[in-house]
Amino acid sequence: MTVERVGFIGLGIMGGPMAANLVRAGFAVTVWNRTAAKAEPLAELGAAVASSPAGVAERSEVTFTCVTASRDVEEVVLGPGGIAEGARPGSIVVDCSTVAPATARLLHARLAERGVGFLDAPVSGGDVGAKAGTLAVMVGGEPEVFDRALPALRAIGKTVVHVGPPGAGQVVKLCNQVAGGLHLLAMAEAISLCRRSGVDPGKMLEVVSAGAAGSWMLQQLGPRAVAGDFAPGFMVDLMQKDLGLVLEAAHETHTPLPGTALVRQLFEMLQARGRGRDGTQAIVEALRLLAGG
Ligand code: NAP
Repeated sequence: MTVERVGFIGLGIMGGPMAANLVRAGFAVTVWNRTAAKAEPLAELGAAVASSPAGVAERSEVTFTCVTASRDVEEVVLGPGGIAEGARPGSIVVDCSTVAPATARLLHARLAERGVGFLDAPVSGGDVGAKAGTLAVMVGGEPEVFDRALPALRAIGKTVVHVGPPGAGQVVKLCNQVAGGLHLLAMAEAISLCRRSGVDPGKMLEVVSAGAAGSWMLQQLGPRAVAGDFAPGFMVDLMQKDLGLVLEAAHETHTPLPGTALVRQLFEMLQARGRGRDGTQAIVEALRLLAGG
């Protein structure tokens, strides 16, 4: 059965452009967002707007969610008016939020009772990748469910990899956040030393990004950090949610992650100053404060 009707719930910084790419790829898309105004740009592109997550799932063969945290995805899937109330047997729910692996396993089990498939499919690539449709998508779930959802997943991502059973996608996303957090710190330390040495950090980024120390963080977020543009692609509050999940998983498996723990403390400095809604490039401000302003 070819998937033609796709739903999308959670039209934030990531979900909005991901849903738009599904419309552009030719799927018949139905959307819902808690704050209704965020559905308007999608309606203008041609998406239908439902009045609840259940209403989206009723009309969709594959229903995506991209909300904030574990309790939020549980609410939109299992809560009153949630996806589970509307989803037909044989349909698939794909959660692109970053949540606990245990939440993914719970949702998989609860939806399986209704004959509904579930994939945990967290993403990486930021707001830039969401708009361009070039996200990396790490998918946990049954292989046959993955195969059926793949055409829709390809509309939002360039690299789509089935990484293992239910929950494995979220485990891989936590590994992604370990590497991403440490790349952010590397970017911020390079900018800090460059500035305090009186050298133009823009020039530093231009050449270092092209060499062996180059990274997505240096290329995409370095220029924003240097310009003092702290508008969020990815908010500090969301990064802290993820680093909390990482350190929980590390504790459960007794895996020492000293660098990640340090990054978490630097972001704590920003949250303490009311900057949780800044983008993660604001980590340069934590280092500026450590250096005495
Ligand atoms: P965002 O802009 O804050 O969007 C969050 C969305 O979830 C909004 O549409 C919000 O609705 C909805 N939502 C949250 N709680 C809800 C609830 N209980 N019921 C219904 N809707 C709810 O965040 P984002 O940056 O798009 O991130 C979304 C997810 O993707 C997060 O899990 C994040 O960790 C992950 N992620 C983000 C990035 C990034 O670079 N931004 C990259 C990779 C992964 P309202 O509009 O009503 O608030």
